[in-house]
Formats: sequence, C-alpha cells, structure tokens
Amino acid sequence: MSRDVVIQLLYIVAFALFIYGLMGLTGPRTAVRGNWIAAAGMGVAVVATLLTPGMGNWWLILLGVAIGTAVGVPSAKQVKMTAMPQMVALFNGVGGGAVALIAWVEFRESHGFDGSPAHVAVASLFSAIVGSISFWGSLVAYGKLQEVITGRPVGIGRLQQPLNLVLLLASIAFAVVIIGGGDAQLLIIGLLVASAVLGVMVVLPIGGADMPVVISLLNALTGLSAAAMGLALDNTALIVAGMIVGASGTILTNLMAKAMNRSIPAIVAGGFGGGGSGTTQATGDQTVRRTSASDAAIQMAFANQVIIVPGYGMAVAQAQHAVREMAELLESRGVSVYYAIHPVAGRMPGHMNVLLAEADVPYERLKEMDDINREFARTDVAMVIGANDVTNPAARTDQDSPIYGMPILNVDESRSVIVLKRGMAPGFAGVDNALYFDPKTTMLFGDAKASVADVTEELKAL
Ligand code: NDP
Repeated sequence: MSRDVVIQLLYIVAFALFIYGLMGLTGPRTAVRGNWIAAAGMGVAVVATLLTPGMGNWWLILLGVAIGTAVGVPSAKQVKMTAMPQMVALFNGVGGGAVALIAWVEFRESHGFDGSPAHVAVASLFSAIVGSISFWGSLVAYGKLQEVITGRPVGIGRLQQPLNLVLLLASIAFAVVIIGGGDAQLLIIGLLVASAVLGVMVVLPIGGADMPVVISLLNALTGLSAAAMGLALDNTALIVAGMIVGASGTILTNLMAKAMNRSIPAIVAGGFGGGGSGTTQATGDQTVRRTSASDAAIQMAFANQVIIVPGYGMAVAQAQHAVREMAELLESRGVSVYYAIHPVAGRMPGHMNVLLAEADVPYERLKEMDDINREFARTDVAMVIGANDVTNPAARTDQDSPIYGMPILNVDESRSVIVLKRGMAPGFAGVDNALYFDPKTTMLFGDAKASVADVTEELKAL
C-alpha cells in the first residue's frame, strides 16, 4: 500500500472518529467519551499529516508539540469549571490565530502566491482575514469573561459601524491587491492588522448578556477559516475538521441567538448588550425580605411542587451535589422537584446540564425553558440558586433594559420565590433584578453551597 493511500485511510479513520465523537456530545452522559473519541481522531489526523512526504523540520515540530502539550494539558486540568468559557474562547482564538499565521507563511513561501492557482490565493487570504478577526475577537471575549477588561459595551457610538465597514473594506482591498500580483510583506501585514482591529472593534461594544452568541460565532469563524486553509493546502483533514467546527458553531450561534431573542447581525453591529459586571442601576429605597434556612426548609417541605432554578452562582459555589441531596430529601417527603434550565444560564452552553449530570441528578428532572415555563404558575416554591439575569422580569417589561426581549424563566409566576445569593450584586448583564423586590420573594443570603446545606440540615430535622 502506498504511503498516500495510508494517509488517506488514516484521514478517513480520523473523520469517522470526529463524527462519532460529536454524536457523543449530544448528551451529558456520553459527552466525556465523545470528547476522548474526537481527541483520538485529532491524534490520528496529526499522525497522518506528519506522514506527508516532504515533511521536514522534525525538531521544530517536536518543539511545537512539546510547548503545546506543556501549556495545554496543565491549563485544561487546572481550569475551574467556572473559568471554562474563557478557556474555550482563548483556545478557539488560538486556532484562528494559527490559521492566519499559516496563511502568512504561505504568502511568504510562494512570494505573494506567485504562480499559485487563484483558489489557493483566495482561500488563503480569506483564512488570514477570518482567522485574524477570530483570534483578536476571542482575546477580547476572553478579557471580558475573565473580567480583565470591562464587560460593559465599549464603543465609539455612531462611528462604530462606518469604522467597522472601513476596516472590512481595507482588509478586502489588501487581499485584492495581493491577488492582483502584489507581493510586498507590508500588504499581508496590513491585511492582518486591519482584520485584527476589526475583530477587536466588533467584540468590544458587545455587552455582557450577548457574549454567549459572540463566543459561538467566533467559534464558527475559526472553523470556517480552518476549512478554507484546508482548501488552500489541499489538506482534507483540515477541510473536514474546519467544516465540522464551522457548521456546529453556526448551528449553536443560531440556537443561542434564538434563545436570547436576538438577531446575529444586530449583535455584531453592536446594537445590543448591557453593562458588564460591576454596574448596577439605582435600587432606590426598595427593600428585600430576608429568610432563614429553617423557614425555607419548612416552606419547601410542605409544598406540592418545587422548581429549582440554577445559575452561574451554583457553579461558583459548586453547590450541585448539595442541591441534589436537598432535592432527594424533598422528594422522599412526596414533593415533586424539577430543575429549570435556561439555555444561557451559567457561562457556557449546557453549563447547568453538565453540573447537574456530574451530581447525578436524574436527567428527566431537568426541564428546558419552554417546558418549565408552563409549570411556574402551579408551583408552590421556586428556589433560585445563584441565577440572576435569566430570571429578571425586566427582560419582559423594561424596554430600556439591556436584556429586554431575552426570554426568561417565569420564576415570578410561582406562588413564592426563595433566592439564594451572597448579596445584592447584579448578574453578568450588570442590571438589577426586580424579582428580588417582589413581595412574594424572600432572600437567603450566603454562599449557595452553605445555604443549601443549611436548608438540608433543617429538612432532616423536620
Ligand atoms: P448571572 O451572572 O446573571 O448571576 C449569577 C448570580 O450568582 C450573581 O448575581 C451572584 O450574586 C450569584 N453568585 C455568585 N457566586 C455565588 C455563590 N458562591 N453563591 C451564591 N450566589 C452566587 O447568572 P445567570 O446564570 O442567571 O445568567 C447567565 C448570564 O451570563 C447571562 O447574562 C448570560 O447571557 C451570560 N453568559 C452566558 C453564557 C452561556 O453560554 N451560558 C456565556 C457568557 C455569558 P452575588 O454576587 O450577590 O452572590
């Protein structure tokens, strides 16, 4: 069997593993295995690529693999679940950056694509533009999620969109000059810089609540740039892997935008988004009612139905195991307990599903937003555990609110609400929550894990 046939066969094995792995990611129970299978597929694809005739610079390749492993493995092992989204943003961005650099190398080696077929030049330059946008945009998204830079929209007002258009046209103009025969280094550098500034300028004005859509959009862009680079390099593995990322990223972006009731062009144009963490509206002289663990326990123990509404704070507190224990105790007393899952609760898609699956909460107890929203009106107690934005009625009523229009969990329709959080800090979108001032709401202040454990102890004592 010739080496070429072996390489093609290995690529086919790799694609099969990618697709099989991706199927595993459709459910929390099979997700970890799916991840390993897809990673094995990537390992096979790398081996096949390294077998390609003419592959040289073995020491450099080994050095790259060693550095990547030394940085990637410890950071992936040590990252906290709550910091996962920024890590995904960073790793995704690095993929886009790598593609942009490959395009630059191709430009240098072929002296401005001299003698290359047109599709190679076009695909490479497309990869350079989109990869650079994705890298720099992802860095800004990382900064916002990590709170290194403000999560509030940072823009230049009305000039924003014309400036973005100029940057896009400039990137395309550099590409056109290169395709027309230009081979000066400054041309490709100009193209990369214009797209880099565009990436930064597109993501900076996007506010807290819209970040989920932006992150998955950047993910899709990285996939597209990798697929285009695969076309230029005639590398099937890169085309297939890039298209899988591009297609799944696009589907996810659409789902997230639908869940947030947003249009993708409007988000990218900077039309939406609220303040980031740290900002808050004046709360006036409204007061909230406090409750205690024992009162909360009594309220729930004598309820027919309780809905638990988890959010980012449950992830921070790592309260999921304590929550399951409390729910089991309630169920043993005949109370029906369900979990309301908002599509953007937490900081990454499926965040709550992952946490609750990890705590062995029965999957059928988890109800998606559309299904559970019908239930709140006949629910005695809704217990909100570290969720904020996804329960904020301002999304339905306050047209000036940055989260206006976002579908929320209708927690305020239940007969009583108990909110577990540490203080009165706002959520990721940076806005106050009128739910806390609703007369039927009581607040149980403290770390979610400790509060749930206290309620559980009180339930045991009843
Ligand atoms: P929020 O960010 O709105 O609110 C979380 C709340 O948890 C805070 O108000 C905080 O209040 C509380 N909290 C934090 N730590 C603890 C703790 N240890 N114990 C108890 N409470 C705690 O979370 P939601 O899940 O409601 O909403 C998600 C937000 O994140 C949305 O705006 C969404 O758009 C955005 N987002 C979502 C992404 C996704 O893919 N899911 C990605 C990026 C952003 P306090 O400090 O007072 O305790």
